[in-house]
Amino acid sequence: MTITVIPQPSRISLVDLRAQHELLRPMLEAAISTVISSNCFVEGEPMERFEREFADYCGVPHAIAVDSGTAALQLVLLSLGIGSGDEVIVPANTFIATGAAVAQVGATPVFIDSDPNTWLIGANEVSRAITTSTRAILGVHLYGNMLPMHDLVGVAAGMSIIEDAAQAHGGALDGKRAGSFGIAGCFSFYPAKNLGALGDGGAITLADPELAARLRRLRNHGRKTKYEHAEIGFNYRMDTIQAAVLRVKLEYLEKWNQRRRQLAAAYRENLRGLPLHMPEYVPGSEPVHHLFPVCCSERDRFAASLAERGVETGIHYPVPLHLQPAFKHLGYKTGQLPVAERIASQTLSLPIYPEMSMQQLEYVCDAAHDFFHGRG
Ligand SMILES: *Cc1c(COP(=O)(O)O)cnc(C)c1O
Repeated sequence: MTITVIPQPSRISLVDLRAQHELLRPMLEAAISTVISSNCFVEGEPMERFEREFADYCGVPHAIAVDSGTAALQLVLLSLGIGSGDEVIVPANTFIATGAAVAQVGATPVFIDSDPNTWLIGANEVSRAITTSTRAILGVHLYGNMLPMHDLVGVAAGMSIIEDAAQAHGGALDGKRAGSFGIAGCFSFYPAKNLGALGDGGAITLADPELAARLRRLRNHGRKTKYEHAEIGFNYRMDTIQAAVLRVKLEYLEKWNQRRRQLAAAYRENLRGLPLHMPEYVPGSEPVHHLFPVCCSERDRFAASLAERGVETGIHYPVPLHLQPAFKHLGYKTGQLPVAERIASQTLSLPIYPEMSMQQLEYVCDAAHDFFHGRG
């Protein structure tokens, strides 16, 4: 009797950082070693250099490094004087931190529905939510897909637009990068983001020099000089080691984003004809595919079938923010934001990361075809 062994890649992760880190290990170790020798472990020259390089990359005058994306969001809201009694418009379809940052500064997040085509917020949803208390619009370039920034600026009527670009490092619209449209852009360098540290990190990008000076103070105990504290600030400083690591990785970001675009295009090609919905991209935009989400009416069965074949998937995000227990006090009801709720119940993120091979991608697509053709 012959036993046929079906070759199967042992396991395809949603995101796998090992290949990237093995490749960069000598450079990362050298960068970390230099920091150890320098005897400076918080902020310092590597951070200042990283700020310059990241600002140039994003096409803005200033970048301010902090210790997380959440800190970046909080500081921007605070620096704009947003707090108690103020409303900030936030998508319901996003990661918790977007809404949490608004609540952390004492303001009220006003959650709005998604545009059914892009799954992001659009001008219609925003304009309906504006009240006399609205102080800012906190938009999210979710999945690495760019928001329709020109439309949002059109309805914002002079209100501040803050970009949550935590998933969109390098994404562009009409040649301008994420983080360069609004009053400020907020980035996260959580390890799995398109640009990730070996730990937590974040940054704010902006043009206004006075706001930049205030943000630099706020991240470091409100410090103006060593012993003079102009206002009550925070300890949201970036570790020197993370700045050194990010400088090594920033050199590769364009190449990695390019690879993500190839993979996303291959997914679209290979999955054509299956009952899967995918978000539309805003015309003129260049997404960076932090995630590759698809909507499927049989999401949980589909995910289980992929898991049986060794394919890991994720859900970004299963509970829209207006229905999160943490925001229960705001009184939203199920059914109130139907598009975001439908996305939450149907979305599934397929594996995508720059080191993923086309063979692995084809394996995922074959498993998807098998599921829908009753073979999986
Ligand atoms: C990751 C992320 C954040 C938060 O960043 P942290 O660095 O984890 O604090 C905020 N918004 C979005 C959309 C994110 O994906």
